[in-house]
Amino acid sequence: MAAAWVRLCALVLIGVSSGAALAKDKTAIVVGGGLAGLTAAYELQAKGWQVTLLEAKSGMGGRSGLATSEWIGNSKTQPVLNQYLERFKVGTLAAPEFVRTPGYLIDGEYFSATDLVAKQPATAEALKRYEKTLDDLARSIEDPLNPAANSTLFALDQMNVSTWLDKLQLPATARQLVNQQIRTRYDEPSRLSLLYFAQQSRVYRNVSDRDLRAARLPGGSPVLAQAFVKQLKTIKTSSPVTAIVQDKDGVTVKVGAVGYQADYLVMAVPLRALAKIQMTPGLDNQHLAALKGTNYGWRDQLMLKFKNPVWESRARMSGEIFSNTGLGMLWIEPALKGGANVVINLSGDNARLLQAFGDKQMVDQVLIRLHAFYPQARGAFTGYEVRRYSTDAGMGGAYLAYGPGQISKYWRLWERPVQRIAFAGEHTDALYPGTLEGALRSGQRAAGQVQDLAAGKSFDPAKAAPVAAAAAAGAAGAVAAKDKGGFFSNLFGGGSDKAPAKAEPVKVEEAKQDKPGFFSRLFGGADKPEVKTAPIAKAEEVAPAPAAAPAPVAPAPVAKEEAVKPAATKPAPAKPAAKQAHKPAAKPAPVKKATAKSEPAKKPVVNSQAKAG
Ligand SMILES: Cc1cc2nc3c(=O)[nH]c(=O)nc-3n(C[C@H](O)[C@H](O)[C@H](O)COP(=O)(O)OP(=O)(O)OC[C@H]3O[C@@H](n4cnc5c(N)ncnc54)[C@H](O)[C@@H]3O)c2cc1C
Repeated sequence: MAAAWVRLCALVLIGVSSGAALAKDKTAIVVGGGLAGLTAAYELQAKGWQVTLLEAKSGMGGRSGLATSEWIGNSKTQPVLNQYLERFKVGTLAAPEFVRTPGYLIDGEYFSATDLVAKQPATAEALKRYEKTLDDLARSIEDPLNPAANSTLFALDQMNVSTWLDKLQLPATARQLVNQQIRTRYDEPSRLSLLYFAQQSRVYRNVSDRDLRAARLPGGSPVLAQAFVKQLKTIKTSSPVTAIVQDKDGVTVKVGAVGYQADYLVMAVPLRALAKIQMTPGLDNQHLAALKGTNYGWRDQLMLKFKNPVWESRARMSGEIFSNTGLGMLWIEPALKGGANVVINLSGDNARLLQAFGDKQMVDQVLIRLHAFYPQARGAFTGYEVRRYSTDAGMGGAYLAYGPGQISKYWRLWERPVQRIAFAGEHTDALYPGTLEGALRSGQRAAGQVQDLAAGKSFDPAKAAPVAAAAAAGAAGAVAAKDKGGFFSNLFGGGSDKAPAKAEPVKVEEAKQDKPGFFSRLFGGADKPEVKTAPIAKAEEVAPAPAAAPAPVAPAPVAKEEAVKPAATKPAPAKPAAKQAHKPAAKPAPVKKATAKSEPAKKPVVNSQAKAG
């Protein structure tokens, strides 16, 4: 009897002590299941944190692209990406040599860089001049982490890239190709801060295209997202976060009427999506202005599928191809999805204008253009997939692309935690925004910051941008004006710069009404008359008539979700008693994925009237 009593006491003690150990576990919530959020969750979990990842959509991976076989850089250019690929044993294929430098599609004819020099020397020469001038501009930035280091550089942030390009007086074709490259990589030149463009050029200075397009990732970045998903214990999809409350003890996150609690939070959603989440206490004015005002580049993707290649095999079109015909950047997919596919990236204002059209109308217009150059296009066309990142409420754009004046106001703003929240996402990485590398780096940084916060470190409040005071007081224009014959003259090829031109609002109405010339300008290039394409009237009237009606192909899910139960409307009581006794009831209980492991636990915070969202 006495022995049994001792045993019982021992069990109670073990229970209490293991409960106490669990009570010390640090908890974190990660909001957003793109590569940034996945990285933050993975890194925190690896450090022993209990992490719950909440993703709004039914699938994971966020903005991972439509391409089934993405080009990626080598470990010299994308070290973090390559580390994770190695760690998760995700295989890559070396890129064939001919795709490692960009190609050009000029009026339907394909040119490699070498062809261009031989056959279109004036265009090749102009592109070289542009690259040299850009390189000079990039060199003027000593530290890309502090691009506005002096008032002259600060002044560049007040200008847009289009104004700068105008000064170069490039011939029409070269300008069209340059425009296309810039709008594909960032955004419309007229919407882009010249300082941001220079800073990014500084980051990639002396990085060769060969290193940036060194390998192919079969299956694309969703494969990497899935590799992270497999490592994580608690993921809850279809869980759009609607509100966050921070207090001295922790954070409470609401998904509709269901609440989760944790000690810290990583917010890994794009700015437009963050703007929709109610924060208590509210963000300060600078953050609120950044949420509203930071420019995102627009880039939508169409994959057109053909029974067989309709382009000349000689063209070997692959890698990045910049067209002067408004088709945007395009590349040929290997036949991973059957047949022969071409992915067309419509970017900048071309993409904005096409928001007025439905997917099929948009595809029809693009197909018309391809058909004009490749007459078998219609007959061989079998279907399409479209992805519009810019109008997706969870994304609100393709990626960060600072507009004029925005570096001055918002530089590295999101790298600093706000109380218990650290921010992640491509837009929070100062060196590699808009890339997988940037997203992964930001997830690592945010995970580190959460640990620092837990260790008692405090982060400085936002500082004013360097030289902001002087330049904001009008020094920008003065510097440009004074500097005749100096810095700016060299960069611009003479003369001082004009006042910053404002980006023109996109005339969606014009697109809707399809005023004469709209599509001609869009696809024929704004700078010169349309070449080779038939005149266009209304979108509907000119829709191509494929031999057999193409079956629209439903966009493939970004990534197949594995082993995660959709959020239940009722909270699932899932915690062992000992754990609950020592943890506040509302902490999220990290749960293993359904196939595996245990039932997702979600704790209601306030659930008196409403249903779970
Ligand atoms: C067309 C295109 C082509 C690209 N090409 C390349 C390329 O070739 N190379 C390269 O390196 N990079 C490329 N990128 C960039 C790269 O894909 C992104 O930088 C990266 O995927 C961004 O990851 P993220 O985690 O920051 O954001 P996201 O992937 O957008 O993740 C954010 C997640 O948050 C979720 N979310 C939003 N709101 C909420 C909410 N309220 N509650 C819960 N979840 C929410 C979203 O659903 C999403 O899953 C490309 C991007 C695009 C759009």
